[in-house]
Amino acid sequence: MANKDYYSTLGVNKNASDDEIKSAYRGLAKKYHPDLNKTPEAAEKFKEINEAYSVLSDKQKRANYDQFGSADGPQGFGGGQGFSGFGGGDFGGFEDIFNMFSNFGGRGQAQMQEQGDDIVANISITLEESAFGCEKEISINRKQRCPDCGGTGAKSNSDYVTCSECNGTGRVTRVQQTLFGTTRTTGICRNCNGKGKVVKNKCPSCRGAGVKLISTKVKVKIPAGIDNGQVLLKQGEGHQTASNNGVPGDLRVGITILPHPLLTRNGFDLYVDVYAPITTLILGGKIKIPTLKGVQDLTIEPLTQSNTKYTLRGKGIKVLKGFGTGDLIVTLKGEMPKDLDKQSIKLVRELESNINEKSYPKTNNYTKKVNDLK
Ligand SMILES: [Zn+2]
Ligand SMILES: [Zn+2]
Repeated sequence: MANKDYYSTLGVNKNASDDEIKSAYRGLAKKYHPDLNKTPEAAEKFKEINEAYSVLSDKQKRANYDQFGSADGPQGFGGGQGFSGFGGGDFGGFEDIFNMFSNFGGRGQAQMQEQGDDIVANISITLEESAFGCEKEISINRKQRCPDCGGTGAKSNSDYVTCSECNGTGRVTRVQQTLFGTTRTTGICRNCNGKGKVVKNKCPSCRGAGVKLISTKVKVKIPAGIDNGQVLLKQGEGHQTASNNGVPGDLRVGITILPHPLLTRNGFDLYVDVYAPITTLILGGKIKIPTLKGVQDLTIEPLTQSNTKYTLRGKGIKVLKGFGTGDLIVTLKGEMPKDLDKQSIKLVRELESNINEKSYPKTNNYTKKVNDLK
């Protein structure tokens, strides 16, 4: 009862053919592969499926399992050798089963491989750089395979020896006799952390880690339209692993857009408040407005209202990975003079008396409504 039922793990019956077992395994491995299935049970389930398949796909192991309930035959019961687990490469077809995951966009073998950590970096760029795209160089400290030991962490080849606890398989089985029978658990060998090898004398260059932090410059292409807080992913440019067949982590570059002195961004549109003397709004004139490609003139018609908005089509930000460009929206604000001398006040009074009341339709409308409130 302590033994696992490998047939039910793969969902096949006891006289299933090799092809049926292989196809059941493919289906389940695809379903529970930790890269494709993010549920917490997936990794454990995937391990069980692999263990079941490693036994049932091997004629001798399957025969032993059928007869004795153990892949290793009768001696497995006595607390002797026990189940050696998979990963020894002693059963056929395992490699090509894993190759099928390469169709799913890399990382297919992550379950079997060491995975390097991600590196998180940040780049600050100007609004103009975010609008048109740019290329930046950043310095990162990346763990790279130690050039002196090739990642083994050992001082020399003779210091890198097969682990005696697991005989190089990286896995060990503990067999326990209990009231209910034999319990066997297969796990990673603690002596070598599953590597199958141990280091006698450490490499002095990396102090046995197999990797070293190396300062590296990385070029980052920043696409036009990127916004503040967005993160660029450079796959495989993170920390490397000590092991040769490990998968390096990713480099994640967060983008900070430095504030522009005048322009603000919302979506792909830009906004600016521009100020002009009230007399310019009355008489008309030209004012200067900032754009991403320098300062340009905007003509103000005579008698322009305060808070008039101008939309300059296509003067905003290019849509990220899409078509079109946002607009630049200019809001014109009329400014009153801080003070007026006697002469100016006299002129304004003259102006006031010269303007027909009907020239202020909004004011008149408002006055009427507010008087009706009483
Ligand atoms: Zn070991
Ligand atoms: Zn080293």
